[in-house]
Amino acid sequence: MTDPRIHLSPPDVTDVERKLLLEAFDSNWVAPAGPDLDAFEAGCAELVGVRHAVALSSGTAALHLGLIAAGVRRGDTVLVPSFTFAASANAVVYLGARPVFLDSTPESWNIDPGLVAAELRDRAVHGRLPRAVIAVDMYGQCADYEPLLDACDRYGVPLIEDAAEALGATYRGRPAGSFGLAGVLSFNGNKIATTGGGGMLVTDDSSVAARVRHLATQAREPVTHYEHRTVGYNYRLSNLLAAVGRGQLRRLPSMIEARRVTAEHYRAALGDLPGLGFLPVAGYGVPNWWLTCLLVDAAAFGAGRDAVLAELAARDIEARPAWKPMHLQPAYADCVMRGGAVAADLFHRGLCLPSGSALTGHDRDRVVAAVRSVAAGQKG
Ligand SMILES: *Cc1c(COP(=O)(O)O)cnc(C)c1O
Repeated sequence: MTDPRIHLSPPDVTDVERKLLLEAFDSNWVAPAGPDLDAFEAGCAELVGVRHAVALSSGTAALHLGLIAAGVRRGDTVLVPSFTFAASANAVVYLGARPVFLDSTPESWNIDPGLVAAELRDRAVHGRLPRAVIAVDMYGQCADYEPLLDACDRYGVPLIEDAAEALGATYRGRPAGSFGLAGVLSFNGNKIATTGGGGMLVTDDSSVAARVRHLATQAREPVTHYEHRTVGYNYRLSNLLAAVGRGQLRRLPSMIEARRVTAEHYRAALGDLPGLGFLPVAGYGVPNWWLTCLLVDAAAFGAGRDAVLAELAARDIEARPAWKPMHLQPAYADCVMRGGAVAADLFHRGLCLPSGSALTGHDRDRVVAAVRSVAAGQKG
């Protein structure tokens, strides 16, 4: 076999990014400040349709500082979907607060707005409202923000949008990242646009933006000596990486289009197989198609999810189970969970197919052939 390994979601960088990176290098703006950083922030703010963007070293850092801006402190609770990447919950724990996990809805795999409303109602009665709610835009599809923000606004609880996976998606015509007090973007190497590691906090609130910018630069006061009124962090993004990000932003529409074509191809080429389902596309928005995800019903398909993963691995194709929910993680074993059957089912039956924007037609055919062979093989 001479076919190269197919990765799940590898970085897709070209001469566009390379040229901008070398220009930044040659300009000697080799620091966590500079014109590329300013331009990258302006580009992200424009794309998300908000007034402020603060470039940070990771999406996790953006979550951490966003939660501080929301007022989260030691002993507080924060509502978090269980079905997410650990970073969404970790940032809560960094602050000495505790996540309360909520189940997802099968319609979008995102946090269930009905559960959020019920939890807030119940906690309001007992005077134990959470300090914040985190909603995550799972696999590039927005959560259902109308009911989520209705519930949060009713009780005055700020919402942080973890849009780390959803840059370029929309909800009722509004860009991912623009909902709630602040949005979080990630430019990690596996995301739809990458700087090789990086993140961004986006917000319409100028005091939130100023506070986050201050905290991200060691909370240095604007005086000549080193004066600190509070404990800060070293969370700024490098100007060099921001240059790469500028190139990725220019190419984002074509990268989203490539992933959409792949998602459509998988649906057309696998949709006839009994027992195979896809992450549903909710009618309220347009995803960025970050990862195409399958749900395998072993009885109808004739083989389980793990058999599909094993066949893909045997053909040197990287695929992954859907997120393992936080309420099933040893690190979060002592946290409260509301519901959980949906998240557990997604974990046990779900998998993510290779979806990178540089995936070729030949790559897609290899993936499709591998999945079909499992179904066909089992049916004899
Ligand atoms: C990737 C990701 C993050 C963290 O972003 P980093 O830039 O890797 O720190 C947070 N939340 C979700 C849902 C993610 O997928």
